[in-house]
Amino acid sequence: MKKVLDLRSDTVTHPTDAMRDAMRNAEVGDDVIGDDYTVKKLEQMGAKLFGKEDCLFTVSGTMSNQVAVLSMTGKAEQIVVHDNSHMYNLERAGLAQICGVQPRPISTENGKYDLDELEANILFDAMQVAPTSLVCLENTFDLNKGIVLDKDYIDDVCRIAHAHNVPVYMDGARILNAAIALNIEPDKLLENVDAVSLCLSKGLACPIGSLLAGSKEMIFKARRMRQMLGGGWRQAGIIAAAGIVALENWKVLEEDHKKAKLLAKQLKNKGLGIDMEQVQTNIINIDLSPIKMTATDFCQALNEYGILAKVIGNHHVRMICHKDIEYDDIENVAEIAGKVVGA
Ligand SMILES: *Cc1c(COP(=O)(O)O)cnc(C)c1O
Repeated sequence: MKKVLDLRSDTVTHPTDAMRDAMRNAEVGDDVIGDDYTVKKLEQMGAKLFGKEDCLFTVSGTMSNQVAVLSMTGKAEQIVVHDNSHMYNLERAGLAQICGVQPRPISTENGKYDLDELEANILFDAMQVAPTSLVCLENTFDLNKGIVLDKDYIDDVCRIAHAHNVPVYMDGARILNAAIALNIEPDKLLENVDAVSLCLSKGLACPIGSLLAGSKEMIFKARRMRQMLGGGWRQAGIIAAAGIVALENWKVLEEDHKKAKLLAKQLKNKGLGIDMEQVQTNIINIDLSPIKMTATDFCQALNEYGILAKVIGNHHVRMICHKDIEYDDIENVAEIAGKVVGA
């Protein structure tokens, strides 16, 4: 059977043999009662990695985000989000429906809030105004771009929020990709952030799972909120075992970045519109308007050759590099993409 090269997302990665072995042999207990050894070990690793007091293992990045907001805010408060963020756009209005908060979206191209605008959106409790009780960041920013937010910027946001006694939450689904791109340890990068989440099921290749790290007090609440959402899981050590394998070796993500840069360069040589400065992690955003081809036509044509990419706009396509795309595959993808666009 011909190998399908699936570049739609890094969520398509399959667990490694080491993960499957670890899952097979995992020591388990009952995580709701609190005695699943393997889950506890993963949570301790997460707390240490992010330099936070405590950590919670959840089902998904979406659940981590909801649980974080539930444990850091109260009903009818406002939270600052980016207008292009996952939390604001891709969580079934969970912020409104589950958390009962009002998002205050701020718009920018690169994921960085204008600091004056941010401060103006941190509102005080007044007769007609709900207070702002959380500032959210996303790093890497925009699941179709993978832009990295650096520590100086994150620290600026934290300084402003904290000056108003407002905590900062980082949706860090791909935060380890950001840490690698910046060549900085995650605990240092997130030094001033109050809480952070991470997806284990993206480039890290776990089958399921996310981590949420923060203060002891916050994670105490988060654990109860996870239970409310039906996220209390019993022998979850089976799944946590894969997470432990992933965290022992997370710096392999660097390979995905190298592959993405290589592929982006080759695609650009074939005439596809690519801003190399935006290829900062494992995500490539391709603009087909220079060659006047629609994203659907392009992806359909690639499909015939067993290559999958994601349509993200009329003329925009996303490709993500990950561990199941080999260096040898990259030339192949570029070659076929070139053929498809007639280069
Ligand atoms: C993928 C992603 C999520 C959600 O993670 P799931 O595990 O798919 O629920 C949240 N935020 C960002 C920025 C993401 O990229």
